[in-house]
Amino acid sequence: MAGQLQDTVALVTGASSGIGEATARALATEGAAVAVLGRRRERLEEVAGKIQAEGGTAFVVEADITDQQQATAAVQRVVSELGRLDTVVNNAGTMGVGQAVDSPLEEWERMIEINVQGLLYVTHAALPHLLRAAEDSPRKVADLVNISSTAGRLARPGTAVYNLTKFGVNGFTEALRQEVMQKRVRVSVVEPGTVDTELSSHLRDGVRQAIERQIEGMELLRPEDIADAVSYIVTRNRRVAVNEILVRASEQTW
Ligand code: NDP
Repeated sequence: MAGQLQDTVALVTGASSGIGEATARALATEGAAVAVLGRRRERLEEVAGKIQAEGGTAFVVEADITDQQQATAAVQRVVSELGRLDTVVNNAGTMGVGQAVDSPLEEWERMIEINVQGLLYVTHAALPHLLRAAEDSPRKVADLVNISSTAGRLARPGTAVYNLTKFGVNGFTEALRQEVMQKRVRVSVVEPGTVDTELSSHLRDGVRQAIERQIEGMELLRPEDIADAVSYIVTRNRRVAVNEILVRASEQTW
């Protein structure tokens, strides 16, 4: 499949559903061989099947990124199987919502483990490969895209720890961007508004209904809308660095 990412390799975490799935398919359409990472193997196989049916190349990587060894081994597996690593999309994440006083500590811990620690483990393992790709690839550029949220820019009651993780992702992205930009590894952040995915299906009873009421009747973003933003960033010429894209649903005030 010919495209801007021909002969490159991409890794998308959390590619078994939602934004990650759509992003993996979009990057494959641009010609990248795409490693789809997540814990649900069957769902990953389905996504890989769709990519192959669309003429692309996909490689399934079953891993839990909250386990540092699994995250590191997953990145190594991608490089040994597909030969290199040019693009990483840190998309895997979870959201817990509710008043702090009512929230189970485990919910807070899960957000830190997946949205922060998991993202760091993947990034740490991937960086040397991205630096190499920026040096030796025909495009002479590599990309790390972190999926944050509007919650990475705007704190609101009921999302304190989700805000903590996503504000953290934004800060980490900006600092790392400045560290590696001279080496032509572009580090960017995408901040989606409310997207129609499985994310809210993991919310606690009571909280989930409150969120559903908040967005009732609203036309939500689709995963493809965010995949478009990621695809735009990573397909630019090496002279262009799109550092940040905020994509809200049209009717969304927050
Ligand atoms: P989904 O629940 O559909 O996707 C989450 C993905 O993360 C799944 O593929 C899941 O795969 C993966 N994942 C979760 N935990 C782990 C883990 N420990 N190891 C590896 N993979 C893991 O939701 P979205 O597509 O909506 O979410 C994707 C990202 O977008 C998240 O970072 C989220 O915070 C962000 N976002 C979403 C918004 C929305 O409105 N939907 C708005 C703003 C940001 P598996 O279960 O197979 O491991």
